[in-house]
Amino acid sequence: MYAIDFHIHVGKREHLSAAFLDYFIGQYGITALEAMDALSPESFSAFLDSQGVCKAVLLSEYSPEVTGIVPVEFTVKFSGDSGKLIPFGSININSDVDTGAQAEHALATLGCRGLKLLPSYGFYYPYDRRLYGAYETASRLGAVAMFHTGTSLFPRTRIRYANPLLLDDVANDFPNLKIVMSHGGRPFWYAEAEWLLRRHSNMFIDISGVPPLQLPRNFPKLERLYDRFVFGSDWPNIISIKDQIDQVTRLAYKAEIIEAILCRNAAGLLNIDCF
Ligand SMILES: [Zn+2]
Repeated sequence: MYAIDFHIHVGKREHLSAAFLDYFIGQYGITALEAMDALSPESFSAFLDSQGVCKAVLLSEYSPEVTGIVPVEFTVKFSGDSGKLIPFGSININSDVDTGAQAEHALATLGCRGLKLLPSYGFYYPYDRRLYGAYETASRLGAVAMFHTGTSLFPRTRIRYANPLLLDDVANDFPNLKIVMSHGGRPFWYAEAEWLLRRHSNMFIDISGVPPLQLPRNFPKLERLYDRFVFGSDWPNIISIKDQIDQVTRLAYKAEIIEAILCRNAAGLLNIDCF
């Protein structure tokens, strides 16, 4: 079965912070880093085909204190114009440039379909008023605002900014903004993330970082809320996207639910066709 992968990182060595570079090499080895550096849009598209991924969201990142900076210009250029690779921008909350103008640049000028924000890597609360310009712009343009929620073992991460409940203000203030909670608040805020889906019809969960076989246990109301879950791998943090997709297809849900998680919900969020 083909899937849309809503959560992929394609940064190169020069985008990583020194601390994260050490962590990455320690965790995955220098070969993994070299493989990432050697990636071209063509080889990556071929890799995605081999994994059963028809389209993929590629994430920019602005987290100089933790992981590094993957500039939106890089992500957009890497994505090209085939439509298979879909770029997301990011926001620098401390910039002199208003976040609304940053969002306008990424979404309207460069053609990104969404923004990725990482509050626990950037040390801000998602309801910080400096971000409201970005949310207003994304909402107006029908783009997605995607937030890292839940834990991360990366050095210097500050977990207090990663509770999905912090997004309740944003969802209340921007009822038309499509808000995605990456990782569904893993591992101790699953209930909070799922509750937010019930409270706010504009909120979604990307299941990257959650072992697929644990989905029924972590999200007991998934069958009722299935139109709000999207598949994501968080590649290269996992090696095989195909294994993740296979695990989703083996879950004891109706075919319609599995198809929605793997493809249909993401297509709706991104305003694209599935295949
Ligand atoms: Zn990620």
